Amino acid sequence: MTAQASAELYSLLHQQFKGDLLRPDDAGYEASRGIWNGMFDRRPALISRCADLSDVQNAIRAAVETGTLTALRCGGHSLAGFSTCEGGMVIDLSQMRQVAVDAEARRARFAGGCLLGSIDTATQKAGLVFPSGVVSHTGASGLVLGGGTGWLTRRFGLSCDSVEGFTLVTADGSFIRANARENADLFWALRGGGGNFGVVTEFEVRLHPLASVLLAEGLCAGPDIRRLLEFWRGFMADAPIDLKWNIDLRLAAHIEKVPPVLRGRPVAGSSLVWTGDPEAGRRYLERALFLCNKDSVRISALPFLELQTMADSDFPHGRRYYTKSGYFSYLDDATIDQMVEAASTIPSSQTQIELAYLGGAAGQVDAKETAFGDRSAPFIMNLLANWPEPSKDEAHISWVRGLFNKLRPAMKPGVYVNFMSGDEQDRVPEAYRERWERMVAVKSHYDPKNFFRLNQNVLPRN
Ligand SMILES: Cc1cc2nc3c(=O)[nH]c(=O)nc-3n(C[C@H](O)[C@H](O)[C@H](O)COP(=O)(O)OP(=O)(O)OC[C@H]3O[C@@H](n4cnc5c(N)ncnc54)[C@H](O)[C@@H]3O)c2cc1C
Repeated sequence: MTAQASAELYSLLHQQFKGDLLRPDDAGYEASRGIWNGMFDRRPALISRCADLSDVQNAIRAAVETGTLTALRCGGHSLAGFSTCEGGMVIDLSQMRQVAVDAEARRARFAGGCLLGSIDTATQKAGLVFPSGVVSHTGASGLVLGGGTGWLTRRFGLSCDSVEGFTLVTADGSFIRANARENADLFWALRGGGGNFGVVTEFEVRLHPLASVLLAEGLCAGPDIRRLLEFWRGFMADAPIDLKWNIDLRLAAHIEKVPPVLRGRPVAGSSLVWTGDPEAGRRYLERALFLCNKDSVRISALPFLELQTMADSDFPHGRRYYTKSGYFSYLDDATIDQMVEAASTIPSSQTQIELAYLGGAAGQVDAKETAFGDRSAPFIMNLLANWPEPSKDEAHISWVRGLFNKLRPAMKPGVYVNFMSGDEQDRVPEAYRERWERMVAVKSHYDPKNFFRLNQNVLPRN
């Protein structure tokens, strides 16, 4: 972006803008330009930190008029780095974090800049939950618009399944509503279609009663890793929707709660969350963890807010991250062997092979009801590399790519857009598959010039 274009953008905005406009020389710019993934060290020409819906409208109109490349930012957790840009403008919603809960109706409205933690804190005051993700500093907008999976997905569905309406500003600067009655096609597309259609300024959602859960954790090493994965794939097929069981293959941390005999070794870490009757759950969880090292097993009742923040420090801002993800209909023996073998070559202590089993309430929603990708493939795999040193980029990225390529033939086509890296635009149609043509039609209608293009992009028809 030229200095002249940037000055023009600023002059179009600054008189009526109520939030902050940050240019590279302004105090606060450096602190505001970074996003969660340290791989993306970019310098936008302007950060427009909007105070309300009219600021969002003005920012979009000015960007369209000046032809400015624009990124959208809620929590800044885009793994692919889409919430920043070099030159261009960032529409930053971090000042728009209002949450209003109607306890009696079990409904909430929250603004487009909310982090998951702001929503959890507000809804828990009424003993209610909005099903979302597992790290409280993640932005709700990016997560919900891509679909949204977390501890409660099997019990209450994906995050987008609990959305009843969106308010958004489209590429022509107008604000509209999308729900079952108004702009129904857009309502369909926003539940899984990401940031392709406009800036969502408010979500209206259903809430569910829940205040605490049972959490069980345990570690397996050596030949028990393979045995655990074989047991898990069978166990989950009949598990009740009250159970969510995630497994991570990684190097065991050198920390007190890990038995000394396991520290530094490749392990399978199990985390199970039970949302049903605690007494029945405890027996069930003990049975599930029978293969784990006895000293590593812990089962405890946990307030919901503690569950939602327990992983926060494992994924700090500013480290370097790279991911590739996919689905399996079934984890066959050869796939399990490849994963176990790969666990012994993991390049750093925070890097992991994450495995989750979908199904439950999320699997019961008809695939045609929302744009979200495949609900039928129960096994979701996410290869997530996490390291601090730029000099180790190549080692981590090539480990992820190499393992992904090895496992790919056994995968089912499909990918969850929120677990994609920025170099995977060719996989976007794969994320939507039979829903692709409808996605293109909705995009062509609401954003015909592809103003919203820093995302898992759906190209409009010419
Ligand atoms: C530490 C961590 C934990 C995660 N855990 C989970 C998890 O448990 N479950 C899960 O499903 N995903 C999870 N994810 C993935 C997460 O869903 C995506 O990274 C998501 O994009 C993050 O949303 P954000 O608002 O923070 O992102 P941002 O980087 O702010 O935005 C990402 C994209 O979302 C779109 N967007 C953002 N705000 C708006 C808006 N108001 N209107 C329209 N479009 C918008 C834009 O296209 C933008 O480029 C996690 C990611 C991280 C980094």
